[in-house]
Amino acid sequence: MNTFLPFSKPTIDEATIAAVGDVLRSGWITSGPKVAEFEKQLSAYFGGRPVRTFNSGTCTMEIALRIAGIGEGDEVITTPISWVATANVILEVGATPVFADIDPVTRNIDLDKVEAVITPRTKAIIPVYLAGKPLDMDRLYAIAAKHKLRVVEDAAQAIGSSWKGKPIGSFGDFVSFSFQANKNITTSEGGCLVLNNEAEATLAEKFRLQGVSRSGWDGIDVDVLGGKYNMTDIAAAIGLGQFAQLSDITAHRRKLAKRYFDTLGPDFEAQTGAILPPAEFNDTNWHLFQLELPARMTRPEFMKRMKEHDVGVGFHYAPIHLFTMYRELGFKEGMFPMAERVGKQIVSLPMFYSLTEADVVRVCGALRAVLG
Ligand SMILES: *Cc1c(COP(=O)(O)O)cnc(C)c1O
Repeated sequence: MNTFLPFSKPTIDEATIAAVGDVLRSGWITSGPKVAEFEKQLSAYFGGRPVRTFNSGTCTMEIALRIAGIGEGDEVITTPISWVATANVILEVGATPVFADIDPVTRNIDLDKVEAVITPRTKAIIPVYLAGKPLDMDRLYAIAAKHKLRVVEDAAQAIGSSWKGKPIGSFGDFVSFSFQANKNITTSEGGCLVLNNEAEATLAEKFRLQGVSRSGWDGIDVDVLGGKYNMTDIAAAIGLGQFAQLSDITAHRRKLAKRYFDTLGPDFEAQTGAILPPAEFNDTNWHLFQLELPARMTRPEFMKRMKEHDVGVGFHYAPIHLFTMYRELGFKEGMFPMAERVGKQIVSLPMFYSLTEADVVRVCGALRAVLG
């Protein structure tokens, strides 16, 4: 009897658990010195760019849109294949989401399709790096420059990923990361936003905490409408412990991904009809190892049969435009055929820091048994 392998699982080491205990005993458990230290280390990693932390990755994107002044009457282009947060934040600020279909090979937004839907009302693009795989970043920013668009990178899954040797987040416009429990590094829940300058960082701090613009002995003032989005020192202590392991985590995931390809072999796609992700080991952090199932195998059937082999399978993601709320905005089946095909058949296989190469070999055996 094998132990059950989930598709994802956080690994928190004893030193990090002890650091959380220290925070709990310190008498200061909300935002404090650990948050400041985490932001400082993240900023150094992102080439000295300003960084602010938050209590989710979702709110970092909403706040970036607010800083950019995007709202009613503005259009924001994004992908239908993401966690629904990516499109929800556009609605949250009162703007209009415009989807562009995906490239079925990378499963990321297709930049040709992005160019085709730009209008005079388009103000921003929110690209998503699914499974941690970046876009063609040169082309993305060339399109943004040509049409004077802001970019809010949904790099929720892409910490540790890079483009031409530069870490994602160390260049570009707004870059948002999530530290939710399943991400490559976690704070249990949380996120951070990389910004362009100190003026944006100051605004981010206000949106993060009720718009407070000044506080001191002589009283406080509020000059914009902010919310309650600050990270706690408890979360930051977890983040610091995780962040120290980022390069090991990324290297391990790349090794596991290679093991998947090597074990499945060059004929796997031809033999099973399944579609593997691009075999690329420099840019992506391998947040997920995703397979598009052949049309003959439904996802529920696949998940059930893999479970019989004690292998957990994740599902990232259902096409956003087909959710009821988005259908009510006028989106419907047939609008984004690639997203609909991939969204129907995509599955995420086990991929996490404590997974071993032997585990991967076992998952591949189950895959062979289930897909024939
Ligand atoms: C995790 C994730 C988010 C949301 O992050 P939270 O921290 O859960 O708010 C957004 N987009 C993508 C692509 C994600 O994977």
